[in-house]
Amino acid sequence: MSPPGTGVSEEAGEIRRFWTGLGLPGLIDVHTHFMPERVLHKVWDYFDTNGSLIGGLEWPITYRTAEAERTALLRAFGVRAFTAMLYPHKPGMARWLNGWAADFARRTPDCLHTATLYPEPDVETYVREAVAAGARVFKAHVQVGAYDPADERLRRAWGALAEAGIPVVIHCGSGPAPGKHTGPGPIARVLARHPRLRLIVAHMGMHEYEDFLGLAERYDQVRLDTTMAFTDFVEDLAPFPRRALPRLAALGDRVLLGTDFPNIPYPYLHQLRALERLGLGPDWLRAVCHDNAAELFGL
Ligand SMILES: [Zn+2]
Repeated sequence: MSPPGTGVSEEAGEIRRFWTGLGLPGLIDVHTHFMPERVLHKVWDYFDTNGSLIGGLEWPITYRTAEAERTALLRAFGVRAFTAMLYPHKPGMARWLNGWAADFARRTPDCLHTATLYPEPDVETYVREAVAAGARVFKAHVQVGAYDPADERLRRAWGALAEAGIPVVIHCGSGPAPGKHTGPGPIARVLARHPRLRLIVAHMGMHEYEDFLGLAERYDQVRLDTTMAFTDFVEDLAPFPRRALPRLAALGDRVLLGTDFPNIPYPYLHQLRALERLGLGPDWLRAVCHDNAAELFGL
């Protein structure tokens, strides 16, 4: 593992060889974190404590650099489009985060304008405002937010997003550590009410992989992102069951590259190699690393 500043161009070269070898114009990464620096530093400090939300794990952040360096790095890797995943852990915070994200998207044209939400009285209003302002993807974090996604206060917000066809990347699996409302049950209740909601289940639903594959099989607007899944780090902790590989192959049009950049304890390239070694072939990789997201976001 090479710290940023050394070996970066070498890693960028290898990443570019990966996607040019597949005949792609670059990568699209639907799960990257950008947020106000003060908030991001708090997140990094949390990772340093090996806290319970990250399962008490040793989690060194590979790309712990200034914002401009992080966007430059994604461009050097050939990531054509990425997101600014950000999320509140308490009420009264989402609207402020959405304001920051709108500004970030304005000054970062390759970032898909991202917004977030939380169960609170004005949620429907600010979700509709974010959509009107051009938000193209939302992030919801059921574990950190510690809320039930089927909370009545979110009902009309989910409805608005389903109606607008805006994808929502949602951390709702019980990895790396479970929350009160994580797991397939609560989110299945949301989908029962809003079957057209375009949920992108983060981390392949880790570690309830097969339950979330089942939701994607049942609802054709449910997708999954690859974030951290299949890497050595996660395979040690919550291995993806080999018996589910044929289902993963069959859902090749509903799996999207996500990485958790910059908050990852290994180089970016490792996520790509982890997908490659699944052995599902170049067509699957092309769809996952670029084409599925290009179609979903009209890129
Ligand atoms: Zn993430």
